[in-house]
Amino acid sequence: MPTRGDRHLRAIQLAKQLAALGARLKTIHLITGMPPCQVQRLFFPDARTIPRGRAPNSVEWYHSANLILRTDACLIGAKYHQLRGQGLNVGEAMVCAYRAYRAVTAPPCRISLDRAFNLVSCIEGIWLARAPVLSVLTCPNCGCEFLAAVGTVAHLGAPCPFCKLLERFHVDPRIQASYPARASIDMSGRQLGILALFHKRCPRAKGDSPAK
Ligand SMILES: [Zn+2]
Repeated sequence: MPTRGDRHLRAIQLAKQLAALGARLKTIHLITGMPPCQVQRLFFPDARTIPRGRAPNSVEWYHSANLILRTDACLIGAKYHQLRGQGLNVGEAMVCAYRAYRAVTAPPCRISLDRAFNLVSCIEGIWLARAPVLSVLTCPNCGCEFLAAVGTVAHLGAPCPFCKLLERFHVDPRIQASYPARASIDMSGRQLGILALFHKRCPRAKGDSPAK
């Protein structure tokens, strides 16, 4: 059994990682349970470095986002789902999934940690959401995991975001520039397969230099 001290240490370590990834005070507070004033004192001694602006708070964003953003959200959701299945708790799974997402996409980062927090809230029905409103489904067409409204049934002939991405990849330079696939990335096998396919079909994405 972890002691109270163990739990407190884990909360501080998680808060540190979240702060480094750009999380807002409220996000860190909701995930770790640490009071916002304590988070600020420990990780934002200079108040000017506290992330400002309006926090993402609506699941509608996912349904109306463009294809690249929806694919990004699916990469986070799929990795999160996989890590939860491996026994990680919600906070740790979210941080690991977000890091994995940042590793497979070209900078600048399109989805903030607070947006990822919003997505995970919607998947789990915790933190910002009262009940699950997004679920992780497996596409019967391409085999990728993707996010859809709770109650959606995946069926053959209905393309998921990855199906659409593959279809448009060779004609859309924005998509080609958004995913500089690298073999060493720790994403789930199927999603990595899709990104590796991009790599083969897009010689410009070779190497480590991010596409601008
Ligand atoms: Zn698909």
